[in-house]
Amino acid sequence: METASERLRGGSAVGLLRLGLAVFVLLWLLGPDALQDYVPIWIVFLVALGLEANYFFGGWRGGWRVPADRLPQAVDRERYGYAEPRELTLVHRDGEELWIPYAGEEGEELERLIEEAREPEPAAVASAPGRPIGQFLLGCALIAALALVVWISETRGGWRGLDEDRKAAATALFSTEASRIAGHAVTIRCDEGGNVVGAVQHADGVAQVGGTLAYLTPERCNSLYRLAFEDEVKSSQTGRAIAVLAHESWHLHGIRAESTTECYALQSGVGLGRRLGLAGSTAHQLMRQQLAENALHAEGSADYLVTAECRDGGALDLDRGSSEFP
Ligand SMILES: [Zn+2]
Repeated sequence: METASERLRGGSAVGLLRLGLAVFVLLWLLGPDALQDYVPIWIVFLVALGLEANYFFGGWRGGWRVPADRLPQAVDRERYGYAEPRELTLVHRDGEELWIPYAGEEGEELERLIEEAREPEPAAVASAPGRPIGQFLLGCALIAALALVVWISETRGGWRGLDEDRKAAATALFSTEASRIAGHAVTIRCDEGGNVVGAVQHADGVAQVGGTLAYLTPERCNSLYRLAFEDEVKSSQTGRAIAVLAHESWHLHGIRAESTTECYALQSGVGLGRRLGLAGSTAHQLMRQQLAENALHAEGSADYLVTAECRDGGALDLDRGSSEFP
């Protein structure tokens, strides 16, 4: 059975958990973008919901659990204390098992002890209700409110929040840049419906090898838009978006092997990043970072890992004359 102090400890733990969640969401929205890159916020919400549910149902069960045996429970010890030299003794009376603090009493004294033991326990101690459902609902409401804040800031602030003219101007620019790398006229579309690319398809972009059409996720389109039209650079997100556009462009060029495509993309990404508004040194730095994180982006698929030839002077070096790579 849960004691009052245990309940209090649990309560403050939940309070801390909620505070922690709120602080984390704020950090996720406003803090370093590495956090957004590596921590899917929806998983954080799921875990928080699980902890709330676990605490609520755990408390509820604790309040109603029937002891498996008839050993003295916390409630008995509260009534009789530890200090007494009495021993709790099991007595059978009218088919009931009763624990009485026995110290050699007889006759009436013994009867009084048995009667005391048979009295229903005080309601406040006996019912020991679990955590009130109001507290659980409050926790759920907080999680829902934070999720709503994230959802609004992601959709309003993202690609979908742009007006049609801006989207058209941006995709025209992406298409022009992709055509330079592909070597022929191609079209880049941003897949707002999530039908072609996205979390479900486990891809940031998709292109027909040697074809004329590629799709990027709205998140990548948004990063490219922010860079080209708002001069906004969020280091690893911007770098990834440039790499993805260059990657799909190399597929359109006719390169099929993922590892070669990615190696070429990181090299072309330097020039692409510059044309979209990055300073030369930043463009190099972002693509080097992408190369360093290659294993991370490959997400366990060996096809996407660049080979040992993806280095300065290697077989995949697109510019042998330069010692910079990428
Ligand atoms: Zn690919």
